[in-house]
Amino acid sequence: MSDLQEYIQKLNRHLARFRETGILNQIGGETRAAASGETFETRSPVDESFIAKVAKGGAADIDAAARAAKATFPAWRDLPAIERKKILHRIADGIVARAEEIALCECWDTGQALRFMSKAALRGAENFRFFADKAPAARDGQSLPSPTLMNVTTRVPIGPVGVITPWNTPFMLSTWKIAPALAAGCTVVHKPAEFSPLTARILMEIAEEAGLPKGVWNLVNGFGEDAGKALTEHPDIKAIAFVGESRTGSMIMRQGAETLKRVHFELGGKNPVIVFDDADLDRALDAAIFMIYSLNGERCTSSSRLLVQEAVANDFEARLIERVNNIRVGHPLDPKTEIGPLIHRTHFDKVTSYIDVAREDGATIAAGGTRVGEEGYFVRPTLFTGADNGMRIAQEEIFGPVLTSIRFRTEEEALQIANDVAYGLTGYVWTNDLTRALRFTNSLEAGMIWVNSENVRHLPTPFGGVKASGIGRDGGDWSFDFYMEQKHIGFATGQHAIPRLGTQ
Ligand code: NAD
Repeated sequence: MSDLQEYIQKLNRHLARFRETGILNQIGGETRAAASGETFETRSPVDESFIAKVAKGGAADIDAAARAAKATFPAWRDLPAIERKKILHRIADGIVARAEEIALCECWDTGQALRFMSKAALRGAENFRFFADKAPAARDGQSLPSPTLMNVTTRVPIGPVGVITPWNTPFMLSTWKIAPALAAGCTVVHKPAEFSPLTARILMEIAEEAGLPKGVWNLVNGFGEDAGKALTEHPDIKAIAFVGESRTGSMIMRQGAETLKRVHFELGGKNPVIVFDDADLDRALDAAIFMIYSLNGERCTSSSRLLVQEAVANDFEARLIERVNNIRVGHPLDPKTEIGPLIHRTHFDKVTSYIDVAREDGATIAAGGTRVGEEGYFVRPTLFTGADNGMRIAQEEIFGPVLTSIRFRTEEEALQIANDVAYGLTGYVWTNDLTRALRFTNSLEAGMIWVNSENVRHLPTPFGGVKASGIGRDGGDWSFDFYMEQKHIGFATGQHAIPRLGTQ
């Protein structure tokens, strides 16, 4: 039996129970259908086959979940941090124990290739361990003495929070948001993306099996416009951590205005990889290919614009075309596959529509530009050359395995092109000129920049974007800044003069 057949067999064993029971909500520790009794179907992007029915939660389910999160908040907040730490480590252990199941389900539900998803499951466990270890110090503050007062600061968890996640690497992204919220002492209502509900359910099961008190983490499936919207409007929910499209972020900000929600947004990107002629071109080529064609190009940090200096552009693009044509598109559970199908028909239609857009705008389709097979949502990795930065393919987030190559002559021109987009999530700079790297990164408008490297995530560092790419930062202590409130307390150290009114 091939590896692929073996994985398909294992997957079917894991999916059997979901086919039978459906994917249900979890509210106050109870497994529940939607209050309305409504469901929707999740289907695999590999062959469009039925996976399971999913509870279609709405405002009533969100209300029940928010009440559960509110009721359990005081006890979770006041649990000694060392206990929260132990529980979060046990969740990480549970993820590791079920990493293969998570990876197989994620691949089938999203179309992501197994070679990346097995690592994503383990990254989820690392997120829990990282924030578990930080939990005991989360409330620490500063001592800021003045002549008359001993001023101290501390941090307290903000309250029940809503977490809304997208369909790209949904498991890893959910852990990234939920782990710091729990470590801070917040309780959670999670609304996962409707296109990829499978692994959010598994994650929730792991958490409760690990001893997380019932109601601390609640799961409500459903669509953005009803369950998602209700979560952002709920008065008991104090903050919304959202990962998704920029225009959805705008909607959430409007929806949350009435209840003064604190928001943390991780949104879209149109990230440049800038290759100067003095760079290590072999490494730059590997990194540029990896950062746009891994994870099906469905990653916010993808380097979707290649800015390459004129002197090396012909050679660099020729080598790029050869490599792109060699990328293996296939079944996501085949360990050799590098690109699987796109998440959904609507997204497939969006991504492939840019092939016509590129043609109409006068760019060259130098590689790919076609679908693969008649079944599922497979697209050949695509490269557009001869583009300029005014074209839609250079400005809009395509969110697929599609790279737009733009040539530049000078450093000034490279910077102008790099910054001339609505987004500002990441940038990748390839040069061996140290002072240029310092100068360029200083002026590049992005929340995260890597020099002579692909995106290598280090959990203590801040993650997030500027401009239309987001508000706020994750990672390290920055996550706690979002999930916690600063509190100042001043203790008088003596008998300082208090202004006296009404004494004349
Ligand atoms: P999306 O915005 O369509 O949906 C994300 C989530 O928001 C889903 O759970 C959806 O149901 C919900 N939602 C939709 N409308 C809502 C509303 N009115 N109120 C509340 N919730 C609502 O995004 P997507 O297509 O699932 O994900 C892809 C996008 O996510 C891309 O733009 C990508 O760049 C972005 N993303 C950003 C980061 C980052 O860190 N910056 C990471 C991953 C993905």
